[in-house]
Amino acid sequence: MTGRKVADCRAFPSEKNCSLTIAGTEDEVMKVAVWHAVHDHGHKDGPELRGQIKGMLKDE
Ligand SMILES: [Zn+2]
Repeated sequence: MTGRKVADCRAFPSEKNCSLTIAGTEDEVMKVAVWHAVHDHGHKDGPELRGQIKGMLKDE
């Protein structure tokens, strides 16, 4: 069992003061975080965005 990962939206460069935190397995966090970045922050989905999100994941 691997530990959970956390993506803290406050650490993500954003024009909104978003305080969302997403926690789960890396796959779960990536799925939700990409969706959130695209739909709530207007980012463009792609390898660049995914790389950025992956880089901000922290161990819980
Ligand atoms: Zn956010």
